Amino acid sequence: MNSSPPADTTTPLQVLHDVFGYDSFRGDQEKIVEHVSGGGDAVVLMPTGGGKSLCYQIPALVRPGTGVVISPLIALMQNQVDALAAVGVKAAFLNSTLSFEEADAVEADLLAGRLDLVYMAPERLVQKHTLNVLARCRLALFAIDEAHCVSQWGHDFRRDYLGLSVLAERFPEVPRIALTATATEATHAELTERLGMAQARHFVSSFDRPNIQYRIVEKDNARSQLLRLLRAEHDGDSGIVYCLSRRSVEQTAEALRKEGLDALGYHAGLSETQRAERQARFLREDGVVMVATIAFGMGIDKPDVRFVAHLDLPKSVEGYYQETGRAGRDGLPATAWLAYGLNDVVQLRRMIDNGDGSEQHQRGQRAHLDAMLGLCESLTCRRVQILRYFGQDAEPCGNCDNCLTPPTGWDATVAAQKLLSTIVRLNRERDQRFGAGQIIDILRGKPNDRSTASRHQELTVWGIGADLSVTEWRGVIRQLLARNIVESVGDYGTLALGPGAGAVLRGEQELELRRSQPKQRSSGVRGRR
Ligand code: ADP
Ligand code: ZN
Repeated sequence: MNSSPPADTTTPLQVLHDVFGYDSFRGDQEKIVEHVSGGGDAVVLMPTGGGKSLCYQIPALVRPGTGVVISPLIALMQNQVDALAAVGVKAAFLNSTLSFEEADAVEADLLAGRLDLVYMAPERLVQKHTLNVLARCRLALFAIDEAHCVSQWGHDFRRDYLGLSVLAERFPEVPRIALTATATEATHAELTERLGMAQARHFVSSFDRPNIQYRIVEKDNARSQLLRLLRAEHDGDSGIVYCLSRRSVEQTAEALRKEGLDALGYHAGLSETQRAERQARFLREDGVVMVATIAFGMGIDKPDVRFVAHLDLPKSVEGYYQETGRAGRDGLPATAWLAYGLNDVVQLRRMIDNGDGSEQHQRGQRAHLDAMLGLCESLTCRRVQILRYFGQDAEPCGNCDNCLTPPTGWDATVAAQKLLSTIVRLNRERDQRFGAGQIIDILRGKPNDRSTASRHQELTVWGIGADLSVTEWRGVIRQLLARNIVESVGDYGTLALGPGAGAVLRGEQELELRRSQPKQRSSGVRGRR
C-alpha cells in the first residue's frame, strides 16, 4: 500500500494537481496516464522536454504498490529522488553508489510497501537478488526510461538493457511503460521487439519543437563564431556548448572565461564530485554556459536553457535532436546552433573506421553519420528534414536558417569533375595521395614547397580550378565527402575517389551543391530574436 498522499480513489488529474502542482496534462500525457493507471502496457515516444516523467510517476501513485523505474542515469537518481521528496512522494534508488547498509535499508522499505517509486539501473534490476526482492513486493508498474538504449541500431546502446526482457517473463501481471525521446522507425521497431512490447499501446507524440531555431553554419573558426553568436544574441543566457573531445571542452571553456563568460567544463575525465558540483551550478544559477562532451545532459531538466551550440558535428540525427532538445523546454524561443566543416567529416569517418565493433555496427554508424551530413548540407527547411527523419510530416517552419535565409544551390558538376580528375591524376600517374589543402593548391595553381618538390606544376590539372576560392573549394570537397563521392583514407585525411565518383566523372550525374556562406555572415541569421 502507498503510504503517501493519494488514496485509492484519487484520479490522475487530482495527483497532477495536488502532488505536482500543474493544472492540466500536456499532449499525450493524459491518454498515457489513463492507460497505464488502468494496467495497460505502453510504449511512449516523446521528444526531450515533452514531459515523460509524469507518464509513469502519476500511474505509480494512482496504482497500489511501488513503481520501479529503470534508468541508465545513475548520476541523476539522487536528484530525481530529492525532487520527488520535495513534493511529498516517497522515492528511493538502488544503485552502486549506495553502501551495503543503505541498499539494505531501501530494500526493507520496498518490502514493507513504504515506497511509491524506486529507481534502479538495469544491471541492478537483473541481479537474482533484486528480482527475488521484487517478487515479494506489490508492484505498481515497471517504467523503462531511455528505452532506446536496448536498440543496437540506435546511437546509445547499453548491453544491460538486453536483460530487461526478463520483466515480461517474471512479472507478466505488472504493467510496463517504455519511454524514449529517440524514435526513428528502426529504433521503435527494435525496442518494441526486444522488450516484448508488441501488445502494448504505442503513443507517438509530435517531435516538433517549434520554439527552437535550428541553424547550421560552416565552420571557420568555431570558437570565435560561437563568441559572436553569444555576444549578439545570448548575452547572459544559460546554454550548453557541445564539443567532441575533453581537450576541446577544456580549451573552449577557458577561452569563454577569458572573454568574461561564466563558463564551466564538463566531461567524463573529471571526478564525480566535480561533475556533480558543476551540474548543480548550471541548474541552480542563471547565465552559466556549460561546455561539455555528450557525457552531459541526459536527464537534465533546466527549463530556461536558451541555446545549445555544437562546435563539432554530432554523430547522428538522433543524438543531435536529443542534445538540441535540451534548449527551450519552457517553450520560449531558443537557439540550436551547429558549426561544422570538412575536418569534421574526415575525423568522424576515421573514428568509425578505426573503432572496434562489428562490421554491421560500423555500417550502422556510417548510415547515422550520412543522415546527419544530409541534414547539414540540405537546401530546404531543417525542421522538415529532421521530422521526416523521425517519420513525421511538416510544413517549412519559417524559423530555421534555411527558411529565413534560403541558401542558393549551384551547378557544381564541372567543379566536381575537376576535383575528381585531379585526385585520379595524382594517384594514377604518380601514386600520390594528398589532403584537401594540397589538392586545392593544385587546382588553384598556387605553388608551395610540396608542389614544387613533387613537380605538380607539370600536371595537366594544375590551375584548372582557379575560378573558385579556397573557401568554395573546401565547400565542394566537404559536400562531396558528405555524399561519398570523395573519400578520405588513412590517418592524414588524404583524399581518394568514393563509390559515387564514377557517375560524376562520366557525366552521368549532375550535382547541385550548397553555395558557401560568405564569411562575414556566418554568425547571424536575420529574423526574430
Ligand atoms: P522529458 O523526460 O520528456 O524530457 P520531463 O518529464 O523532464 O521531460 O518534463 C519536462 C518539464 O516539463 C519538467 O520541468 C516538467 O516538470 C514539466 N512538465 C511536464 N508535464 C507538465 C504539465 N502537464 N504541466 C506543466 N509542466 C509540465
Ligand atoms: Zn525551416
